[in-house]
Amino acid sequence: MIAMRLRAFFIAGAISAALASASFAKSSKGKTSAKPASARPAAAATPAPKPTPAPSDWQVIKVGPRDYLSADNIAKFYGLLGNVDSTGKSVVLNDGRNQLQITLNSREAVVNGVRNWLCFPVIAQDGKFLVSRIDLAKTIEPQLRPQMLQQPGRVQTIVLDPGHGGFDKGALSAFGSEKEYALDVARRLRSLLVAKGFKVVMTRENDVFLPLDLRARIANATRDSIFVSLHFNATSNREATGFEIFSLTPRGAPSTADDALALHFLNMQAGSAVDAESFELSTAVYHSIVGHLPEFDRGIKRARFAVLRQTKIPAILVEGGFLTETGDSKHVADPAWRTKYAEAICTGIENYRNLAEKKQRPMLVADYRAQAAGEITVVDLAQPPSSLEPSPAPAVVPVSNTKQDPNQEP
Ligand SMILES: [Zn+2]
Repeated sequence: MIAMRLRAFFIAGAISAALASASFAKSSKGKTSAKPASARPAAAATPAPKPTPAPSDWQVIKVGPRDYLSADNIAKFYGLLGNVDSTGKSVVLNDGRNQLQITLNSREAVVNGVRNWLCFPVIAQDGKFLVSRIDLAKTIEPQLRPQMLQQPGRVQTIVLDPGHGGFDKGALSAFGSEKEYALDVARRLRSLLVAKGFKVVMTRENDVFLPLDLRARIANATRDSIFVSLHFNATSNREATGFEIFSLTPRGAPSTADDALALHFLNMQAGSAVDAESFELSTAVYHSIVGHLPEFDRGIKRARFAVLRQTKIPAILVEGGFLTETGDSKHVADPAWRTKYAEAICTGIENYRNLAEKKQRPMLVADYRAQAAGEITVVDLAQPPSSLEPSPAPAVVPVSNTKQDPNQEP
């Protein structure tokens, strides 16, 4: 461990060298200062998990109005080793279990094998990659140390919220409508959850219209519960495809679909008392979905959708694919696929319950793929070992992140 920590010290130098010829972010440069003893890498409104890092472990760097932590500081704190890619634009921090990839001037990150969207772009200053403090506290720390989640509530009841209904059909494909698919997945998921010992409340059981605030009120009337809103996607870009998942945008940060530099989003819109739980729930469910199904990983995102904003229990919204894309719309129309999708969400919810109630770390996408490879071993012993390799992780390529009007409800 000492060797690892020592090696991590050298990342700053490696990053400096790699950045020597790279273009730097055009952020206004502020003075670098150590914070007073009370400083933590957390948003001001919400206390960081305990035990917190000793203040001396973090050197907070102020750039313009915002606090940042350097990549080498993050590596050192978590005991990660760092590598800068040949372009000098990306850093991968790794300890064999946790992995964090960040890219200069980008909000796109890869955390433990799945795409994430940071609230603010990674910037560079004095040869160091800098990650905003709110991203460290609200997105990175919860994934590198999920077991630090503070006093999560029990998870006995799952509130399933099939999107749309009645005259509101939601997205449409050549085969059907979002309102039908969402309700169908909710019904499949309900059976699976009940079999696992959960109680299930549905915001709608039939094809009826339900206002968003009523959905939230139904959720808020339950105890020891979590809220899972089920949707399918649509966009004018007919090639957009894949899964994405949302939890509430942290206080003082832009949503994923917002321009990070649009200052009017940086007001003090309330977060939620259960932000951390909601985010852990979104990562647990998303890893299971991406780990079980091969569709494209669009990532873990943030939004201020009404059902996320108004619910007072841990809440997520899952987008199960694009009804405007041929491939996605075909498999969403397949009942067998919808069963697999419901099973993946169920497993993610179980993983969240194990985290909340037993401090058991949720499985990651790599765990699910390894597990799937193991199942092949059991089923077909005649196969040569080479065929038992887990399928490779999807290539991490930048995708357009502007699929819709940021203020539009899904
Ligand atoms: Zn929808």
